[in-house]
Formats: sequence, C-alpha cells, structure tokens
Amino acid sequence: MTDQTKWVYDLNEGDASLKPLLGGKGANLAEMHRIGVPVPDAFTVTTQACVASMNNDGEWPEGLAEQIDAGLARLEERTGKNLGSAENPLLVSIRSGAVFSMPGMMDTILNLGISDDTVEAVAQLADNERFAWDCYRRFVQMYGEVVEGIAPNVFEDALTEMKESKGVALDTDLTAADLKELTQQFKSLANEALGGHWTTDPKEQLLRAVNAVFKSWLNPRAEVYRKSQGISRDLGTAVNVQEMVFGNRGETSATGVCFSRNPSTGAKELYGEFLTNAQGEDVVAGIRTPRPLEEMEAVLPEAFTELLETMERLEKHNKDMQDMEFTIEDRKLFMLQTRNGKRTAAAAVKTAVDMVDEGLITTEEALLRINPSDLDALLHPGIDPDFDGVAIVKGLPASPGAAVGALSFDAEDAAERGGRGEKIILVRYETTPDDIAGVMVSQGVLTAHGGMTSHAAVVARGMGITCVAGAPGIKIDVKAETVTINGKVYGTSDVLTLNGSTGEVFDGAAPLVPPAINEDFEKVGEWADAARRLGVRANAENFEDASKARELGAEGIGLARTEHMFMAPDRLPAVRKMILADNEEERAAALAEILPMQQKDFEAIFTAMKGLPVTVRLLDPPLHEFLPNLVEQSLLVQKLELTGADEADVERERALLGQVKKLHEQNPMLGTRGCRLAMLYPSIPEMQARAIIRAALAVLEREGETVGVEIMIPLVVIAKELQVQRAIVEKAVEEELAAAGKTLDYTVGTMIEIPRAALTADQIAEHADFFSFGTNDLTQTGIGISRDDAEAGFLGYYVDTEVMARNPFEGLDQDGVGQLVQIGVEKGRSTKTSLKTGICGEHGGDPASVEFFHNAGLDYVSCSPFRVPIARLAAARAALLNK
Ligand code: ADP
Ligand code: MG
Ligand code: MG
Repeated sequence: MTDQTKWVYDLNEGDASLKPLLGGKGANLAEMHRIGVPVPDAFTVTTQACVASMNNDGEWPEGLAEQIDAGLARLEERTGKNLGSAENPLLVSIRSGAVFSMPGMMDTILNLGISDDTVEAVAQLADNERFAWDCYRRFVQMYGEVVEGIAPNVFEDALTEMKESKGVALDTDLTAADLKELTQQFKSLANEALGGHWTTDPKEQLLRAVNAVFKSWLNPRAEVYRKSQGISRDLGTAVNVQEMVFGNRGETSATGVCFSRNPSTGAKELYGEFLTNAQGEDVVAGIRTPRPLEEMEAVLPEAFTELLETMERLEKHNKDMQDMEFTIEDRKLFMLQTRNGKRTAAAAVKTAVDMVDEGLITTEEALLRINPSDLDALLHPGIDPDFDGVAIVKGLPASPGAAVGALSFDAEDAAERGGRGEKIILVRYETTPDDIAGVMVSQGVLTAHGGMTSHAAVVARGMGITCVAGAPGIKIDVKAETVTINGKVYGTSDVLTLNGSTGEVFDGAAPLVPPAINEDFEKVGEWADAARRLGVRANAENFEDASKARELGAEGIGLARTEHMFMAPDRLPAVRKMILADNEEERAAALAEILPMQQKDFEAIFTAMKGLPVTVRLLDPPLHEFLPNLVEQSLLVQKLELTGADEADVERERALLGQVKKLHEQNPMLGTRGCRLAMLYPSIPEMQARAIIRAALAVLEREGETVGVEIMIPLVVIAKELQVQRAIVEKAVEEELAAAGKTLDYTVGTMIEIPRAALTADQIAEHADFFSFGTNDLTQTGIGISRDDAEAGFLGYYVDTEVMARNPFEGLDQDGVGQLVQIGVEKGRSTKTSLKTGICGEHGGDPASVEFFHNAGLDYVSCSPFRVPIARLAAARAALLNK
C-alpha cells in the first residue's frame, strides 16, 4: 500500500494549493475546513484517478476501489454514521469538481445512502417523515438519470401527474404520503426502464456514482464548454464524496447561492438567492425561481448574519470575489462551495480597481485578474438611454448588456441559425447546461424560470451573453415555437430586445448606442500601459477608425491598407482606367486622377493620428479584384450578343472581358500582387508615394502636426524587390519634398509574410527600416492553406477533433508560423540592430499570440481598433508573466 498512488484525500488532508489534484471544489472545501468555516465532512477522489480511468477505457486504476472503501470507512468513523445503516444512516453527495470550474456541466448525485432500509431512520432522526421521502424521491430521480441514464421525463411525467391528481401546484405542497407513493412509483419506473436491474445496495451505488461523475467529464455539454473556455480535456475531474446536510428539513432549513459582490456590475453589495425547505439543486439548476437573499434576514436571522461574516471572510482569504453555495440545516449554516466568481467584464474591471483601492490586491494582481478577451464585451453597444419604450415584461437582470434578435425556442435551432450569423434570442422555460451550444451563439437568453445564480445565468455572464431570467407570466409553447407575453404571441420571425442590466424585455428592436468607457476602464488601461513593453497600434484606414483607435489607446497605425479606398464606387472607374490602360501615357493620366483622392484619404488618417506614426502599405491585392467577375462578364457579353444589343456596347464589354481574362489567375493569392505588381507597374507605387508625402505636408501645414510617415512595401520575398521599390519610393518622395522646399522624416520598410522573406530576412533588412509581420498571409503560406478554403473545408473538423489546438487564423500557430516570426526577427536584427519590428495580422488582438510576440522581442503589435484595449492588457500581462 505504501508505494501505491494516493487516489483519495480526506477533507483534512487537502488545501487550496492542491487544486490540480483535488479540483477547485475539493481543494476549496478543504481550505474552508482548514480555516474553520463549517463544511460537511468529506473525502475527494483525485483528478488523476479520473484521468487514469479515462486513459484506460474507463477501467479503474489499481487500488482506487479499495481506497474509496477505506475513505468511506474513515468518514463513517468521523461522522459516527454508516452508509446503509438502519440505525444511524450516512447520506452523502457525490460531486464533480474540475480544476477550472465548469458550472453545471458535469454531474452531481445527492442523498445517496437513502434506501428502503434507511428511510425510516432518516425520518425518525429528523422527526420529519415528509423530509425523508422527499430525499428518497430526489435520490431515485437523480441517481436514475445521472448514473443509469434514464430519461428525465420518465420521472417528471410521474411527478406532474402526481401533482395534478392531488390538485397542487408546487412540489412543496405534496405531503409525506404523496412523496412516499411517488418514491415507490419512481423506483418501479426505474426498475422497469432498466429491465429489472435497478441497484439497491448503497455501497454499490456509491461506486457507480463515482464512475458516472468520471464519465460526465466527457459528456457533450462539458466538451462544448471546455472548448469554448480553452480547458484541456486531459485534466479530468475530481469527485467529492460529502456528508449531506439538508436544506429541505422544513421552514428552518434553506439553501442558496451568494456572491461577495455583484457579479454583473462589480458593486460591493448583497447578491444572492435562497429557498427555504429545498435542496441546492433547486436553485442552481434553475428549477424554481428563488427569493432574493435580503429576505433571509427576516426568516433566519442568525444564519443570515453568520453567512454575511463568512462571505466577507472568504473574500478576504481568497483575495477575490467569491461565488458560494450554502445550506442551512435547522438554523445551522454550512458552506458547500466557494470559488472565484465568474463575472462580467464590467464587474471584472470594477472589482479589480476597487480591490486595489481597498488595499486587497496590487495593481499587478489586478491586471492579472482581468481576462483581456473579456474587455471586448465592454465595447459593445447598450440600449439608448433616451429610449422610452415600455417593457412588455420584466424578469431578473441575470447578465447585462443589450440583445436584439429573432426568437428561437430550441438550443439546436439557435445553434444552427446563430451559426449562420442570424441574431438570435434563445427563449427557454429554463435553460439547462445542455443548451450551451445554443446559448453560446445567441445574442441573449430569455427564460421563464430560474434565478440570477442558476448555472445558466453564471455561464451567460462568463461568456458576455445577455440574459433575462425568470420573466414572470410568459407562456412558452415549444412545439408551436411561440411565446405569449402580455397577451401577444411572438414566433420565430419576431424580434425582441433584452436589457440584461434591468431585466426589461421590449417588443421589436430598440435603438442601441455605443458603450461609454468609464473611469475604471481607463484606469486599468493606464496600469497596463505602465506595465507593458510591447507597443500597441491599430489597423485602420479612415478617419473614424483611426480616431477610434487613438481614443482606445493606440500609439499609431500599424497598417493602413490603400486598396479599400480603390474599391469605393466613385473611384472604381479611374482605377479601372489605370488597370486597362494600353500604354504608360494612358496609365499616367489615370493615376493622376487617382492621386488627389488618395492624398485626401491619407490626410484624414494623418489628421486623426495627430503626429503618431502611420504605416501606409502600398497596393497589395491582384488587379483583377478591381474588375468584374470573369463568369459574370462572360454571361453579360453573351446576353448582349444574343439580344442583338448595340454593337458599340457589345464591343466595350467584350474588350473588358478580354482584360478580365488576361488578368485572371488560378491562384491570385500567390499571383501578381503586392510588390510584384509594383515591379510591373512602377508608376503605381510612385503615385502612392507622392500622395502620401503631399498629404503629410498638407497636414503639417494645416494642423501644425508632425506626421510619422512609414511607407510599407507588401509581399517582398527577394531583397532585390525591396531595393528596387525603395528606390522608386525614395525618388518620388525626394522630388515631392524638393518641389515643396520642405524636409520630412520618413521610413521605408516591408511586410514579412512569406516564408522565404523570413528565411532571408538578413538580406531584406539591408533595404528596410522596419519589418511588419503579416501573420495572416504568413499563416496561409507557412502552413500551406488558403484561409477561405480551409475554413469552409477541413479546419473546423481539425479543431473539433483537436488535430489542431486552435484555428491558426485566430491564434497564431506558435510552433510553426511562430518560428518564422522568430527567425525573421533574429535575422533582420543580425543585419540591422535598430530594425523596428511589429505584426499587423489579426493575431495582434489575440492575447495568447500577443504573449508570444512579446517573448519574440517584437516592438509592437497592431490590431483592429476595438481590440486595442485587449492588446494593451494582453501585452501588460505578457510582461508581468514573463519577467
Ligand atoms: P454543481 O457543479 O452542479 O453546482 P455541486 O456538486 O455543487 O454541483 O452540487 C449541486 C448542488 O447540490 C449544489 O447546490 C450544492 O450545494 C448541493 N449539494 C452538494 N453537496 C451537498 C451536500 N453534501 N449537502 C447538501 N447539498 C449539497
Ligand atoms: Mg456547485
Ligand atoms: Mg498580406
């Protein structure tokens, strides 16, 4: 036994540091016990035991069953109760508990140990027969569903029938005799469903329940949740076997959930819900709509005061907002769970700032508390405060934000429509964790039942999805796909607006306004700026986006594309003239027409950036992108020919078709684009360089602002290309400056976006003042996949089956493409130590990628304007975590 792996830990053997082994729930129960908070006695089966079973086709590792037996014997010894005893029976819960909390995604079984042999003793000891049968019927249902896989409706139908036949509305109105009868029914239904194989021995039930919790680690909703949160499947779940305490022993007993601060707003105030004469599952599974915690003061005053003290104590101890489950058994308080509470982005920011003010944590700890990706939610719109529509119903404000969408009454339907990009409000009687796939893609969730601490609400807040819960009096007809609110019937094509901050629901789409960025947000941004080394710029090419970027803290533009401007309808004719020109003269004339337009665009960007650096990338896409589609143009010509149209028209369209054909490429992404185009048509980069300089001089004169001009040549793969292009650009710039009699600092650099460029970066750096890694194209060319084809094709499958950990266009492929970035930086700097390096792919706003770029030693990342705050925080965290 001595050299055997330890699979089981008693409650007093653990503490918070053992989270990887005991799971969050188990480690925190042990920690609470250690510091003297009342917790029912327990033992924990380790995550390693789950992993070992999982890796061995579900077969338990050697010694596990024996250690559970021994753990149970010790628990019996400590509690003085015995599992299955007819005198003093021990009842336990079997609870899942992963390293990272996954609210409601796995299974729990309560009241195990109640049986025909023990139920009388339970009744006598509590002096409450109704309570004993309530436990028993709950147990048969939970055990039957979770361990034996019996369909829930088997039990629910029987319960509904029973309530109807007794003429009562609530479970709590059923008498002891009713519940006894119901239990007998449940048992025979269960036995029937299992073909006579219903287990009645509590010991055997215990082992089967532990195994069922192991297996629930792999159930579909847990898989979906893990994937969405980036939690590894290899971690496994622990299993806690804990003595039951009973919130369903009458009106002096209760159960509930509370937070040490408001998880929606972060405010330091009472936030919680409870039910008397109930078990925890009734609250967390959203089966009944619970009462606000404030009301507990009048019902159970001593327990209420003790709860408040415990809350405060646990928050101080864990130095973070706590989400707690408690049960009061005959006025005595027990804590059943505590964890760092899931919260909205707004609450994360507010609690972090407040806790710094309260001296509870440092600014560095505060920065590490806030998940950068969550900031995104703060930048989403809310309902216009001037909107004075009248709510059609008001439920509980379970997860804030505004959601506008068409209705869906089924998670699968929501997942499908939401997946297609439709804006959906998922309307459910109550949401169960099984709805997770539908919830994730919805704008908002509206439920008829359940409170603000139900699992559904917790998950929604964690994901930044708006939720109004427990909307009173709404009638949902799932079959007909309708909901009746305030007398009016709404179907799948009707639109509602949810206000998750107030709980209000409006008919139709309410007007939305951009979010207001508050002081706390600004403060976190300032702390982040002080902590980070990496610069943060934005990708933007017009005045609005550039201004937004500056407002959100960008230190410059890392990528201003010049081709979007070419696509504007009023420009396209001139651009086409340039492309279709037969000779240099015609082309020059067309370019002369475009130049002032480009100049105006650049002036707008320079003006918005007020002296900050702006990297302008010269024309990048293949020319045929500016021409009509080949198939469409062929059809047009055919149609004109067949309908005998005017010969001049036919001729013109035919000529255009000829050009389209000439420029058509099999693989345009790898064809004549970027600097290759500029090599063939040098008058294009020349015109662009002139437009940039004229714009810079104009802004300098008009606004008195210096302008940080950085001219970027795309798609270079050979040093010679950059040498030639740089010369073209420099000549044009010098001519412009000479003509104006002015001087201006500017730099010329290139994108590194093809493996060959990274590999020969030492040669390319000879001609470059800066490198900007275009990680989108570098991912395509480095992995050898085209984004559109991959995403429409195999990539989803690869990510689902974990062949690839993430979509490489969302999170940088650090092992592969990452190496190209590292090589490019190293080689580039080996030639030129002062070489400035940055990245301008979408990865610039992805926190994990930002950390990689920090470690690769880049000077800055550039991302879309709304991701700038995310990148600032991610860069700060990267600096703090990689000191
Ligand atoms: P989940 O992850 O679904 O919240 P839990 O293991 O926390 O699963 O249990 C679900 C509910 O059952 C919670 O409300 C919890 O408080 C309650 N519960 C669990 N164990 C016990 C126990 N030993 N005594 C009383 N209630 C319990
Ligand atoms: Mg729980
Ligand atoms: Mg590119």
